[in-house]
Amino acid sequence: LYVQPDLSAGAALTLEKEQSLYLAAVLRKSVGDEVVLFNGRDGAWLCRLTSDAKKSVTLETVEQIAAQTPPSDLWYGFAPLKNERLDYVIQKAVEMGAGTIQPVMTQFTQVHRLKIERLSANAIEAAEQCEVLSVPTIAPEVTLERLLDGWDPARKLIFADEGEASSSPVVALEKLRGTPIGLLVGPEGGFSDAERAKLHALPFVVPISLGPRILRADTAAVAALAVIQATIGDWR
Ligand code: SAM
Repeated sequence: LYVQPDLSAGAALTLEKEQSLYLAAVLRKSVGDEVVLFNGRDGAWLCRLTSDAKKSVTLETVEQIAAQTPPSDLWYGFAPLKNERLDYVIQKAVEMGAGTIQPVMTQFTQVHRLKIERLSANAIEAAEQCEVLSVPTIAPEVTLERLLDGWDPARKLIFADEGEASSSPVVALEKLRGTPIGLLVGPEGGFSDAERAKLHALPFVVPISLGPRILRADTAAVAALAVIQATIGDWR
């Protein structure tokens, strides 16, 4: 379970109402029960409940069971999608090891009002589920133009585009081993011709195809992350 307080030997913690309710009422934890907590800074700690009051569960740390892992260096930028698809891409990006997740506004992006807290809550939930100790950062939304203007050219930007000639992305990606990378996936309407032209002209952009079929943006994200992991390896 992700918590805010510091975790260290001998620490006593009091959880907020919502998490207390979750532990005491949903998970039915009571005094003496153990639970693993992490906060994104101090690794994973086995903790024991010292009170099971539904409004404020208290715990004591027992022992650290995993050291803190460094944040993943993989950046993932996506044009925001609607509701469940948005939740899905955040969840899958965390599961697939993204370290920074950033909404990127493109010409054909249809979703403009984003609740960053909802995206962060999804990222935390996904990190809990897949035991990622450093919760990925949800970076503030940015326009494609500003993103590209401020991009560090030492980091390669893998640009997934259905307009690319359909050849295997493996050869292009294998060359990037050891290089910092980002992945950009477009909106349901795809990238505009002007955006494509701009991306193609930049030396740090590596266009890839994910096959001859047009994938939904959420499918493309998962497929691209899987291919990257299979070719470049994990990015810790
Ligand atoms: N332009 C499209 C259209 O409306 O026909 C569809 C865009 S697709 C649904 C959304 C995004 O997924 C694209 O911008 C691209 O980033 C990615 N994508 C989909 N299929 C792909 C493929 N075969 N290869 C690479 N990227 C793909």
